[in-house]
Amino acid sequence: MKKIQETIDLNSLNQLRITVSEFQGKQRLDIRHFFRTDPTGEFVATKKGVNVSVDLIGKFRKALDKVFSRVEMAEDDEAMASLKCPKCGEPFGDGMNIDGEMAKCLACGHRWEYEL
Ligand SMILES: [Zn+2]
Repeated sequence: MKKIQETIDLNSLNQLRITVSEFQGKQRLDIRHFFRTDPTGEFVATKKGVNVSVDLIGKFRKALDKVFSRVEMAEDDEAMASLKCPKCGEPFGDGMNIDGEMAKCLACGHRWEYEL
């Protein structure tokens, strides 16, 4: 199997490389930090990374999906917490109802379409 690689540039001196390649007849997934000491030099692999059997790719993807959806939920919660009634300024919490895209202020009864 040919080596498959994706590179994520972090800045001019640092990269993450995600590689699937064959090692001793087995496919391995390698996620590794590469760096170079000057912007014109070659990138060098560091010890920072993981190297696992390619069988774990499915588990990796599932775990990443779970983590990212939890990050998104946490961001939504934070955005919700900062919502205020545009009419009376009542903060979200006991003072508001959310129904789909509509928010209702329980303090003044104002309804409006909110965006996170
Ligand atoms: Zn209000």
